[in-house]
Amino acid sequence: MRYSEKALRIAPSATLEISAKAAQLRSEGFDVVGFGAGEPDYDTPEYIKEAAHDAISSGKTKYTAAAGIKELREAVAARLKRRYGLEYDFKDIVISNGAKHSLFNAFQATVNRGDEVIIATPYWVTYPELVRMADGVPVFVECAESNNFEPRIEDLKAAITDKTKVILVTNPSNPCGCVYSRKSLEDIAAVAKEYDLHVIADEIYDELVYDGDFVSFPTLSEDAKERTILVNGMSKTYAMTGWRIGYTASNGKAASVMSSYQSHASSNPNSIAQYASVAALNGPQDDLAEMVAEYKLRRDLIVDLINSIDGLSCRKPQGAFYALVNISAVKGKSIDGETVEGSMSFCDLLLRHKYVAAVPGLPFGADDYIRLSYATSRDVIEEGCRRIAEFIDMLK
Ligand code: PMP
Ligand code: GLU
Repeated sequence: MRYSEKALRIAPSATLEISAKAAQLRSEGFDVVGFGAGEPDYDTPEYIKEAAHDAISSGKTKYTAAAGIKELREAVAARLKRRYGLEYDFKDIVISNGAKHSLFNAFQATVNRGDEVIIATPYWVTYPELVRMADGVPVFVECAESNNFEPRIEDLKAAITDKTKVILVTNPSNPCGCVYSRKSLEDIAAVAKEYDLHVIADEIYDELVYDGDFVSFPTLSEDAKERTILVNGMSKTYAMTGWRIGYTASNGKAASVMSSYQSHASSNPNSIAQYASVAALNGPQDDLAEMVAEYKLRRDLIVDLINSIDGLSCRKPQGAFYALVNISAVKGKSIDGETVEGSMSFCDLLLRHKYVAAVPGLPFGADDYIRLSYATSRDVIEEGCRRIAEFIDMLK
């Protein structure tokens, strides 16, 4: 039997894979410390769950409009107005099965065969695959750790060709945790305008910012807003990863293209999760403030612990919940005859010797790094870093 070449070229998600591997080891009785997939360790707040129960009891269990229920599209538009002063009509909002699906729709809506999409490196594993699923070509722009992993305008310009169609902006970034400066964002907006490009702005971590000011891309100018498909969702902000609700805000034409596409691919996202999301966006935001305060403590803890280990270093991230750890100083060292060639072997050896699950940087385009998610308790962070220190000690 022959399968599609396009499908066969798609690699499985490395972030989801590492978590599955850790879960498998745990089920076999091993005491695994998980710094794998970026998933809040909190439970979904009670008032959101109650709204889901109410939706079930009151029979909100039927198909909805493909782009989502009007109440949720209005709640998203109201949030963007409240939070950033952005004006969107409910028709500009499309609700999808998680932000991953929103991104899928956004690339399908903007990319023709052979079109190039500019992606800053290190990047979240899923982006290049989503671009390939749209028959596009990912073009990577290297970002230096010394520049807070933000792209430089001259590098962006050098990457532009007559095939360039989209610039992707992930702010705050996964896996770097950096929050882009207004200047970097303005540079990107200027390039997008000069070359008439779409911008896909993934701001799923916009509420998880610990230092500095977060600037939402479409607030930069009317022009930036018009050319941007803004992506966000419920997973990170409301600890709702399993509910699968994401959304886009864009101009009406992009919204209607994505809505039509989705109407054939998946119809509406789960109706109960949509009603729960209305409650999440319109309800009290106290749980969120508590989570952010705790993530900040965890960030400080993990960065201090990693930087106290000889051979590892980590720049302090300003947002999201990832620490990107530089392992370049231990490359070439060995343990029991096995050498750390790069991030894949580092993570493999760390898991086998110390039962610590970390994500290798290679599938993020950054083989000198590993990613640790600190969406886990402070006790787990301390234990995990203690084991990492022991592991580094064992490398000769
Ligand atoms: N964007 C980024 C940068 C992410 O890290 C993730 C991971 N969850 C997503 C989008 C997708 O989130 P979800 O599909 O759970 O809404
Ligand atoms: N986005 C999270 C991560 O990067 C969750 C897993 C995934 O969807 O990739 O780990």
